[in-house]
Amino acid sequence: MYPLSAIAATNIPMQKRVYIETYGCQMNEHDSERILRLLEGSDYLETKDAQEADFILINTCSVREKPEHKVYSALGRYRWLKEKRGVIIGVAGCVAQQEGERILSKFPLLDFVVGPQKIHHLNEILGEVEGGRRRVCEIGFEDNVSANTILPHSTQHRAFVTIMQGCDNFCSYCIVPYVRGRERSRPSHTIISEIEALVQKGTKEVILLGQNVNSYAKNDPHELTFLQLLAKINEIQGLERIRFTTSHPRDFTEEFIESFAGLRRLCEHIHLPFQAGSNTVLRRMKRGYTKEEYLAKVIKLREVVPNASITSDVMVGFPGEKERDFAQTLDLMRAVQFDGLYSFKYSPRKGTGAARWRDDIPAEIKQRRLEILQEFQRGITLRKNKALESDVLEVLVEGCSRNSPREMMGRTRCNRIVNFPGGDDLVGESVKVKIEVGLTNSLRGELCYKEEKIC
Ligand code: SAM
Ligand code: SF4
Repeated sequence: MYPLSAIAATNIPMQKRVYIETYGCQMNEHDSERILRLLEGSDYLETKDAQEADFILINTCSVREKPEHKVYSALGRYRWLKEKRGVIIGVAGCVAQQEGERILSKFPLLDFVVGPQKIHHLNEILGEVEGGRRRVCEIGFEDNVSANTILPHSTQHRAFVTIMQGCDNFCSYCIVPYVRGRERSRPSHTIISEIEALVQKGTKEVILLGQNVNSYAKNDPHELTFLQLLAKINEIQGLERIRFTTSHPRDFTEEFIESFAGLRRLCEHIHLPFQAGSNTVLRRMKRGYTKEEYLAKVIKLREVVPNASITSDVMVGFPGEKERDFAQTLDLMRAVQFDGLYSFKYSPRKGTGAARWRDDIPAEIKQRRLEILQEFQRGITLRKNKALESDVLEVLVEGCSRNSPREMMGRTRCNRIVNFPGGDDLVGESVKVKIEVGLTNSLRGELCYKEEKIC
């Protein structure tokens, strides 16, 4: 940064600030990281305070109604900043892709919209807007899946790496194939070199991202399979942990499960969304598996990796969901004993198959089912976390705890958050922590010792 006196005495431009507001899924968080990385070479520095920004970017997803609505309320909130200081305002992500010109005409304060696959044009778009030339709508799909791949920001100890984009599954409730396009996998050599570069910068843990990672490169006989890709990544020296998300239960095969334990750097955590416990509902969701098939895969996984933690996504209030269907969702949860669960109320998404059916479950019933389910899961999660009390777990330290600057926060291999007293010299290190208390959303512990060398 330039000192203020120097700015006054010369013609050096005042540093401009960008504020990014992100809603929705991990994909979006990763896109926001990529946006910051893209802006590194520009005049913009990140700020965490919208009030001091010269450029505000709202990056949101339209998978559910709630994050979509947040865009509109954010635009209302920032209107006065536009009127008072003329800040540039843009919308990125799936909502931009879905609404395109419509959102531009609805909100005259908006300078541009950019779809998830056009983010790499951001600097050109900004140039056009700053030059006062026009309002920009840059949406659509890219054939070249590497075009919008940008190395994530800075030296993170934990980094997301996109291995594929889009989705071919067309589950009847889901907007993703419409706003993120058809499934396209990145060439494996670019993924591997990206991870090698990240590791050189200090990354210890990578999270491979895709809507359906187990179908990686399924149409390309010359490309590695997902399993082969994992095996290659597992060989990268200096990398400590590999995770991936999301696995589709249909493509999560026995062969894959059997190989799981053989990959040392692969963490013992699987996110395997089940969505519903009723076969009638699963069929209407077009998920391509039954609850019996789902359970069989969980049992197999627990045979091969007994300490694997399993998390999932579930929805309540899908059109036509009866009380007995909902009871079967609870039955499945009882049988699996998930370590964590993301639960949602169904909301119709324009253009999807299910949106043609009446959204016939009243809001209060959806809410009641959600609360019952969440209460049930809270009990399971708490019991599982308490069972870890007195265990010594490997924790990769990510930074200061939210609770106190004297505490550090890290993650176990099974993806549990652990808070413990310690200093920031531990950031990026793998340490052993003795778990003292298991809580609903996290664990608390005491540092035992710094791990010698994991790799
Ligand atoms: N690809 C992942 C899979 O196959 O499960 C899920 C990706 S989706 C972006 C994340 C979660 O949002 C889904 O697992 C589902 O539970 C939820 N979701 C998707 N569409 C929804 C809708 N229309 N209403 C409510 N929740 C929805
Ligand atoms: Fe959506 Fe289904 Fe694709 Fe997941 S697998 S992104 S839920 S269409």
